[in-house]
Amino acid sequence: MADVKLTNVNKTYSNGAHAVRGVNMDIANGEFIVFVGPSGCGKSTLLRMVAGLESVTEGDIHIDDQRINDVSPSERNVAMVFQNYALYPHMSVRGNMSYGLKNRGDSKEEINNKVVAAAKTLHIEEFLDRRPNQLSGGQRQRVAMGRAIVRNPKVFLFDEPLSNLDAKLRVQMRIEIKKLQRKMGVTSIYVTHDQTEAMTLADRLAVINNGQIEQMGKPIELYKDPKTLFVASFIGSPQINLIPVRFDGKLLKSGNLEVKGFNNLPEGENLALGIRPEHLRIDDKGPLSFRIDLVEQHGADNLIYGTLIDAATEEGHDLEICLRVNQKQEPKIGETLKLEYDHENALIFNKETGLRLV
Ligand code: ADP
Repeated sequence: MADVKLTNVNKTYSNGAHAVRGVNMDIANGEFIVFVGPSGCGKSTLLRMVAGLESVTEGDIHIDDQRINDVSPSERNVAMVFQNYALYPHMSVRGNMSYGLKNRGDSKEEINNKVVAAAKTLHIEEFLDRRPNQLSGGQRQRVAMGRAIVRNPKVFLFDEPLSNLDAKLRVQMRIEIKKLQRKMGVTSIYVTHDQTEAMTLADRLAVINNGQIEQMGKPIELYKDPKTLFVASFIGSPQINLIPVRFDGKLLKSGNLEVKGFNNLPEGENLALGIRPEHLRIDDKGPLSFRIDLVEQHGADNLIYGTLIDAATEEGHDLEICLRVNQKQEPKIGETLKLEYDHENALIFNKETGLRLV
């Protein structure tokens, strides 16, 4: 178990790509940290630097009190789980799980005890003598995790470990990884582009954009209190509704739409009013007019997609928005409704700087 500290970490590849820019982070012993962001934002590069699979161009990485920039991957006491499992195809499950331990000279008995214990924890005991190609994707990923667990590392590193699994299995494995991490209490860093995975797994998550940490915090903090338009848009599914607006000193305006209740905003600015789907509700007295295009029934609730009448995007297109309602509310496609929104949960952003104002 260990603390991990990143200090002004930068990575520039030999082709000049500045993939990671000045990242600072303190990870406490036992924390589950998720790096999340769109493809190409630098999250895998950052993880691979902690693993020792990429060099650090500038800055320092510490595990506990040891600076590990120049320590070889095998001596960092970290274990990584990859998206493609990275198992040896010609070895049995037992062989794959034992391999690292044999290399470091553990006794046969010790190895056997550790492998059997990890296999039990991961429910793969009965597959110990099979080869990886005789297992399902989910079982292979358990073997990859087993191989990491038996090494009893200070830090677990996960690089999109669930991306090759189907949706149902992904949810199941997500829950198991979380439970396992809780039980073992090992400091973990997990990379994903999937915001649901990030929200559900993380003690704290770092939203990464263009090589930099855009914001770091508990999942619910980032959801409720995003500091930027990027974080507000990236976290939350369906995505937050963003209505382009300007402020005339009294009202927020978008096309013919006028919204009261705001002050202390910069006048005439290029703003966006952000409202999450669950903060909209059907209300005859509401200020927003909405025409329904599609109703998605998710069981417990319905997602209603449609057009915000009178609002205008910069390009003059209709503005599509989404609201989440109870499953009992199932309005008809083509119907026009009035909507009210929760003022206390509405967010306002400066679209030019990307920063949140309210
Ligand atoms: P992510 O994991 O968020 O998808 P990566 O860390 O893989 O992003 O990549 C970050 C940036 O660094 C991207 O622009 C990518 O093209 C670049 N990059 C990644 N690996 C290399 C490499 N080996 N050589 C050069 N550029 C790379």
